Amino acid sequence: MQDILIIGGGINGVGIARDAVGRGLNVTLVEKGDLASQTSSWSTKLIHGGIRYLENYEFRLVRESLKEREVIKSIAPHISKPIRFVMPHVSHLRPVWLIRMGLLLYDWLGGFITLPKSKYVNLQNDYSDNPLKENFQKGYEYSDLSIDDARLVLLNAQDALNRGAEIILNKSVTNAIRHDDYWEVELSDKKIIKTKTIINASGPFVLNILKDICKVQTNKSLRLVQGSHLIVKKLYEGEQAYILQQEDRRIVFMIPYQNEFTLIGTTDKEVDSYLNPTITSEEQSYLLNAVNSFLKNQISESDIVWTYAGIRPLLDDFNQSASKVTRDYEFDLDVNGAPILSIFGGKLTTYRKLAEHALEKLSAVISIKNTTWTDKEKLPGAGTFTSEEFNNLLPINMMQRFSQSYGNQISKLYSYFISSGNGGAKITEDLYEFEIAYLVKEEMASSAEDILFRRTKLGINFPKDKINSLNDVLKKYL
Ligand SMILES: Cc1cc2nc3c(=O)[nH]c(=O)nc-3n(C[C@H](O)[C@H](O)[C@H](O)COP(=O)(O)OP(=O)(O)OC[C@H]3O[C@@H](n4cnc5c(N)ncnc54)[C@H](O)[C@@H]3O)c2cc1C
Repeated sequence: MQDILIIGGGINGVGIARDAVGRGLNVTLVEKGDLASQTSSWSTKLIHGGIRYLENYEFRLVRESLKEREVIKSIAPHISKPIRFVMPHVSHLRPVWLIRMGLLLYDWLGGFITLPKSKYVNLQNDYSDNPLKENFQKGYEYSDLSIDDARLVLLNAQDALNRGAEIILNKSVTNAIRHDDYWEVELSDKKIIKTKTIINASGPFVLNILKDICKVQTNKSLRLVQGSHLIVKKLYEGEQAYILQQEDRRIVFMIPYQNEFTLIGTTDKEVDSYLNPTITSEEQSYLLNAVNSFLKNQISESDIVWTYAGIRPLLDDFNQSASKVTRDYEFDLDVNGAPILSIFGGKLTTYRKLAEHALEKLSAVISIKNTTWTDKEKLPGAGTFTSEEFNNLLPINMMQRFSQSYGNQISKLYSYFISSGNGGAKITEDLYEFEIAYLVKEEMASSAEDILFRRTKLGINFPKDKINSLNDVLKKYL
């Protein structure tokens, strides 16, 4: 009998699995697709306090997020990167005093921070390559953290697995029968798992799991708000990102992405369905217009290399504007029989704290050690390393990608390089057989999509005619 069965392998599910198994509980996590195959890999990829939430007086959320930014920087340094955001001043949207007060709060609300504080900047002189129109003269800079969202999920799952959790991928929970003190949970392959409690961490699917599968009622409701992104060829040199204030009072980010690209996002579009989110033509035009009103060199549809969209599973706080609905989280614990804890809302940034709060909540009904630990123990691959093994064997771009993805696991990757006979088959300039073998054997990948869009982001400009070769190699290791 398991102590906890977690439904959902997004950031919240894996965060809870890691924390719970580390406290000695028997944990199974079931994910119907790949890890991070839904919302958790479709984000803006920021670990941020959320400067704009200050306008909605969400001080608790911003404080917790800023503290978590420091924690994640320390436990996952290889997949995260401090980044400076530049906010051009637009006087008719927000006055100087308001921006200054907001940035001051942002610098201090999280307590001790290691990231550089905010400052005033001259947009035309302070950057070697300034992409903005000449009428934008002054602005402000502040810090946040960018993250590889899908790998953050993977590393939490990997750590949970290493500590003894069972992780079941590509199987969905199809039914759950409730008894007084345990659940019988049925998976799509008809396997039955008995568990004392269920944690419903299925993000946008939370109500479907709760009502249709577990037959439990709740008075909480969800707002499904789609957010879409564009990836375009790099718009400027330099590591700074931009936060661009829009006439509708929303903000749109422009962030350097993967050396070659700029990431533009996001939107807030209320939707009815959580299945197969796709960017609409209105969202695409909105994002192009949003950046074009600031850019010297205008961009158009033909500059778009890739797009993606995701659904935010937001806790309904009955705010009229989709962009203002709270990004905070709440729990619903039902104890009319064996317990089930459901998660409403949340962000990548707050996943670790959400996991602690979820276990604290569940400790009212099952015995759970109250020792928190996930802020101190680093995620797999963190910690000092050299990539000496590969020495000059691989191109510098590839080595850079490896260190930002695998950190000190590079030495394990190297053992695959050797055992495949100095790398094995070449799929493209950036992808060889040894990495595919590593991702299947060490990182639970089982399809080309897992490899191209979540374990790596090589899929953005991966040649279509190479998919068959990738699949042929993949088959050898499954
Ligand atoms: C456009 C956008 C931008 C964002 N940007 C940021 C950002 O920059 N920073 C930030 O902190 N947050 C950001 N967020 C928020 C963040 O991405 C989400 O809050 C978070 O990923 C939600 O994670 P989750 O685990 O709750 O849900 P999910 O990642 O959706 O995971 C739920 C999982 O449950 C699985 N599941 C569903 N039904 C079943 C079943 N029957 N059996 C088994 N498994 C099942 C699904 O397959 C899914 O993988 C953004 C969100 C969006 C949409």
